[in-house]
Order: sequence, then structure tokens, then C-alpha cells
Amino acid sequence: MSKFWSPQVKELVPYVPGEQPKIPNLVKLNTNENPYGPSPKVIAAIQAELNDSLRLYPDPEGDTLRQTLADYHSVKPEQVFLGNGSDEVLAHLFYALFQHDQPILYPDITYSFYPVYCGLYNVEGKAVPLTDSFEINPEDYTQPNGGIIFPNPNAPTGRYMGLEYIETILQANPERVVVVDEAYIDFGGETAIKLVDLYPNLLVTQTLSKARSLAGLRVGFAIGHPDLIEALNRVKNSFNSYPLDRLALAGAKAAYEDEEWFRKSCEGVISERERVTQSLEGLGFEVLPSKANFVFARHTEKSGEDLAQGLREQGIIVRHFNKPRISEFLRITIGTAEQNDALIRGFQSL
Ligand code: PMP
Repeated sequence: MSKFWSPQVKELVPYVPGEQPKIPNLVKLNTNENPYGPSPKVIAAIQAELNDSLRLYPDPEGDTLRQTLADYHSVKPEQVFLGNGSDEVLAHLFYALFQHDQPILYPDITYSFYPVYCGLYNVEGKAVPLTDSFEINPEDYTQPNGGIIFPNPNAPTGRYMGLEYIETILQANPERVVVVDEAYIDFGGETAIKLVDLYPNLLVTQTLSKARSLAGLRVGFAIGHPDLIEALNRVKNSFNSYPLDRLALAGAKAAYEDEEWFRKSCEGVISERERVTQSLEGLGFEVLPSKANFVFARHTEKSGEDLAQGLREQGIIVRHFNKPRISEFLRITIGTAEQNDALIRGFQSL
């Protein structure tokens, strides 16, 4: 910290991303990437764009990609907002759509970027405890608030909530924006996008980082009422009017034009998730039911921290959070069958 820092930066507690180690050949199961990689059509589209005109600025509104996403999700292009990863979409919506008269509500165990955005924009956040079974209880989201946000499935628990519960939250808060962060929705959940025309206070965010295996391309989006999207556009145009570069726009569009690749990729993750769950249970783990591309598990006898360290010594990395209530848990990304076998062998040896 130095005298040159602004007062607000002195106060800022930044997000700490999961480790991206430089060591080759690790079994990397710590940041919920998709092990199968993107569709070859995505690579071809990016290569074609590379040969074209990087000299030129990209389309600031990303109209072609917005049209693709609108068609895919049966909404209008003016209901779609694009960002450089869904993290950027989240950053903008905290600024554009949350009120400051009451605290923003989010679950007490959830994506740790939410409190960071509260800190960045100086809005109060309130963590609402999960139930004993690590679920979100919609009844807890009827208290006064400046807006609500939660992932579905939740992270890092993997627990999923049906749309009827989300409707309860939406109906209890007609004057406030409710954001459903669907980073992991494609691994067995049902999207709330089908509710956006019924609820003008609903905004759904998704990412291409997980099911579409494009974490490196940095593309995310939000879908909601055009009024909400207009507010997001105001913030975007006051921040970076070209959030998506030409390669990202071209690659992301192609990702929605290979449905078979997408379907197979999700099916592969889901079936490996069930296999990993069973193996872990056989080894004495309690595994929370997951509809994400990771599982959240604790051993009935062994310490989470020791297990994570023991795996690391074998070149396998999983995520351990040193936080109250979840310090015994490990968040394990579902990898390829070979990676998952290495994980199970790793646990067997500890
Ligand atoms: N929301 C949740 C719940 C996440 O876990 C992540 C990934 N870390 C994101 C949003 C952000 O994803 P991205 O910025 O890669 O789109």
C-alpha cells in the first residue's frame, strides 16, 4: 500500500482466483474447467477470423452473437447482454441493477466474487445461511433487500434448486432484481431463461467457460427484460465499449452451432460425475448431490486440508476452502475418465 493509492483501493479486498499452476502434466481438478475441450468448429471459426481482419475493431454490440444466443434461447436480441466472461457481466449488473437502500442478499456459502463486487461498489451485502443440507431456502429471501443473487446450481456446493423455488423468490421480490447465475446449469439443471418473459425482475447469467469448454476465450452473457439489458449497456459503454474481441465473438458463435459436441460433452461430464460420486462414497466420503461439473465432498474421518495436500504431492490438484463450515470439504472438478481414475487412486493411497 502506498500514498498513491486511492482511498477506495486501500479498502478493497480483491477476489482470489483458483490456482493456475505452470507445472505441466498435473491432474488439474481445481477450477471447474471442462476436460473435453471446445468443438473443432470453434477452432475453425477462430482461425478463419484470424486470417481476416484483426486490424479492425470488433462490433461493439456483438450483434451477430447476440442474435445467435437469442435464437438459441428463444428470446429477442435486445434481451441479451454480452460480457468478457460472466464475471464481467456480474460486475456490471452489481453496478447497474442493485439498489443501495437495503443489503444485497446472497447465500453464505457461494461464489466468493459477490462480496467482492459489493466492496467494489460500496453496497452492503448480506450472506443468508444455507440449510443444514446446504440448500438455499427461498423463504429466507423474503426479507428487505436491494437485490438478490445466487448461482443455480450453487457453487461450491453443486446443489441445484428447481424453477418453482426460483419463482417463489421472484414473486416475493417484484420491486427488486433477482439474478440467477447459471454458470453450471448445463450439467443437469433446467434454465430459468424460460421465465424471463414472465418476470421483468429476473436476470439470468450464463458462461461459455464450463459446458462449452471456452474458459480461455472469456465469454459470458445475461438474458432478461430489455429494460435490464439497457441498464447494463449504459454501464458497459461507460467502461469498455468493446468487451468481446473478434476472436471471442467468432468462436462463441460457432460454439452454439455444434449442438452435438455440446450434448456429448455434458453427457460425458454427468456420467463421470456419477461414477466419481460412487467411488468417493465407497472410500468413506459424504458427497453432496451435484448438478454441476464438480462435486463437493468431505471424508468422514480424514481432514480436507490433509487430503488436498496429499493429492498435491501426487500431482493432483483439487480446491480446498479455508472457510467456516466447509473447511472439511473438497471441491473436485470432474475430469476425463483417466484423470478421475488418477484421483480415486490418489485418495486410495492416502
Ligand atoms: N459464476 C460462478 C458461480 C462461477 O463459479 C464462475 C467461475 N469461476 C463464474 C460465475 C465466472 O465464470 P466466467 O467469468 O469464466 O464466465
